[in-house]
Amino acid sequence: MPFYDLSCKKCGETFNIKASIAQRENREILCPSCGCNDLEAVFKTVNYVVKSKGCEAVSCPQAHRCGAGCCH
Ligand SMILES: [Zn+2]
Repeated sequence: MPFYDLSCKKCGETFNIKASIAQRENREILCPSCGCNDLEAVFKTVNYVVKSKGCEAVSCPQAHRCGAGCCH
């Protein structure tokens, strides 16, 4: 089953949840905070920010092997 990053339109809670595509289409996924099913997908623009932070060559013990200094 795929994971979804969802945001609740009602209370603003964002969460990651594992659910089937059918559950998503049938709006059976509920906000863990308020129980509402009015959810929208979160696009993971934060992902590369987190990655670039942990990507400093000095912090990578494998920098000589992974070239870019990032082996994540
Ligand atoms: Zn909610």
